[in-house]
Amino acid sequence: MTTSSDVIVIGGGPGGASCATALARAGNRVILLEKASFPRDHVGESLSPSVLEAVRHLGAEQDVRAAGFAPKAGATFAWGSDPSPWTVGYPPANGPSAYQVRRAEFDVILLQAATAAGADVRLGWQVDNVEPPSAVPAGVVAADPDGRKVRLTAPWVVDASGAPGLLLSRGLGRIGGPAELNRVAMWGHWRLGRRPGGTNGETSLLIGRREACLWYYPLDDQCRLASIGVLVRGRDTKHLPADPTELYRSAVGSSPELAPLIDGAVLEGGVHTADVFASASMRMAGNGWFLVGDAAFFVDSLLTPGIQLAIQSGLLAAQCLQTIIRQPEAKTAALDLYERVLRREYETFTWLCRNLYGAADTALPPSFPGRPQPPETDGMFAFLSLIAGLPKADLAARLGGYMGTRAKAAARGGLRVIPGEKEGFAFLSWLRHQDRLARARAERITSELDERSTLLPAPGAAIAEELFVPAADARVLTARTAVRNRLGDRFEATPGLVALLETLGSECPYDKAMSRFCAATDGDGECRSSFADWIKLLADYGIVEWRAARQGIA
Ligand SMILES: Cc1cc2nc3c(=O)[nH]c(=O)nc-3n(C[C@H](O)[C@H](O)[C@H](O)COP(=O)(O)OP(=O)(O)OC[C@H]3O[C@@H](n4cnc5c(N)ncnc54)[C@H](O)[C@@H]3O)c2cc1C
Repeated sequence: MTTSSDVIVIGGGPGGASCATALARAGNRVILLEKASFPRDHVGESLSPSVLEAVRHLGAEQDVRAAGFAPKAGATFAWGSDPSPWTVGYPPANGPSAYQVRRAEFDVILLQAATAAGADVRLGWQVDNVEPPSAVPAGVVAADPDGRKVRLTAPWVVDASGAPGLLLSRGLGRIGGPAELNRVAMWGHWRLGRRPGGTNGETSLLIGRREACLWYYPLDDQCRLASIGVLVRGRDTKHLPADPTELYRSAVGSSPELAPLIDGAVLEGGVHTADVFASASMRMAGNGWFLVGDAAFFVDSLLTPGIQLAIQSGLLAAQCLQTIIRQPEAKTAALDLYERVLRREYETFTWLCRNLYGAADTALPPSFPGRPQPPETDGMFAFLSLIAGLPKADLAARLGGYMGTRAKAAARGGLRVIPGEKEGFAFLSWLRHQDRLARARAERITSELDERSTLLPAPGAAIAEELFVPAADARVLTARTAVRNRLGDRFEATPGLVALLETLGSECPYDKAMSRFCAATDGDGECRSSFADWIKLLADYGIVEWRAARQGIA
């Protein structure tokens, strides 16, 4: 049996399976070691819509659709002190856009994709030790299914061993998230007689109250089998009673939405518990290793980002690795990109979850985020309001600003924040990005911009060769000229932007900068008339500044 390969992947959950599939498909020799024998049960049954798209890149979409999982038409929220539930729907696109899955079967489908792609998938292999991350070639010591210790070597190790495993990240150190996100989860499967009121078809029901947050996921399309979970504030599972069944039943029973459901229903297979603490590894990747999925970071169970982030990080790690294997000189840049993208995702989801749980704890005034505002708004608006932590009027203004920025950027040939995501998430990323910029720009530009102004690059703005994340199905990262701001954000560099920054190498009069910019963009009169707007947009992204004729930068 082979004991050396190009990459060793530890863990056969969604993160490890995705990474192994993409790497094997690109022609690498991949050994995946999974301690359990599959199928094995796992918590995490509710998929967000972007999971299907990620699964498509793995070639497993049809198998997921054909598995008979319950379609998920959206999520119904009974959140905060507002008694009336509201629903954010997921419009179907060539079939349901999301599912509630039985993880034992879902994870098998993803692991089969890895095998089909050519990965050497070994079940019943428990990794006991990862050799020092700096060792090249790195290696692992694992117990095979007969308990024999085997040393396997590879230049790269991907730790996708999930939150409890933490093989590599255990040694790297872990930073805890905000205390208010720390919860203890109790959950079980129920054989039901009916579905809850207020839900719209096969939607999840998420209940957020000061004392506890709860989930209800219908696991079959008749809504006869359901997963019901409770998240309570608490130190950890060690403080739960040895048998938490009564505590769990009473928490579910005290929810007016769920109490009628469990009346006469049968709890199958007992009550499970887990600590749900947000945390992230001190580092996400280094020389010889990558962390993927929960091993890299974990935020929350209720907003259901876990599987999506595990697959996305698995695919991104594969793209970074493939880039490094093909172009060793790109190693530092690829590791840096991976670190940056994962850190940003962790911070963004932590911020969203703080808003989410914050709203559950508040006695909501009518204008508070998370309340739907019918008839003029819809569930998506209410959802954005809830997780962005913005009341209705503020959200509308910020959405307007975002759409305006997008329209202007598109008209100018596309100033695009990388990485982009679907529109809703792109908006939330933009919102957070704007807040970061506002906090970081101590010297906000308050002086008027006009033809007598002098333009200059913002502190830290630079043009450089950067790696970008291409489409998820691409095998390698792409290198392009980019503009960087002082926060380390990278933007695609259009010819006009490059010409402008080169001209501004030192300070430059408005007219001269405009001529160079318009010449580089083959600009006409329209370019000249919109130049000031363009400069203000670049200033918003921390790329360009100006000095007015007589004032400085206030
Ligand atoms: C209470 C709760 C509810 C959740 N609900 C949802 C939800 O509804 N939707 C959602 O998207 N996410 C949910 N999540 C999160 C989701 O379950 C995880 O984010 C997801 O499973 C992460 O995938 P992964 O591949 O990183 O890790 P895992 O799925 O945990 O896979 C890790 C694998 O590594 C193997 N392994 C561990 N140690 C070793 C070793 N030493 N050697 C070899 N193999 C090893 C394990 O056996 C396992 O198969 C929930 C989490 C919790 C705690």
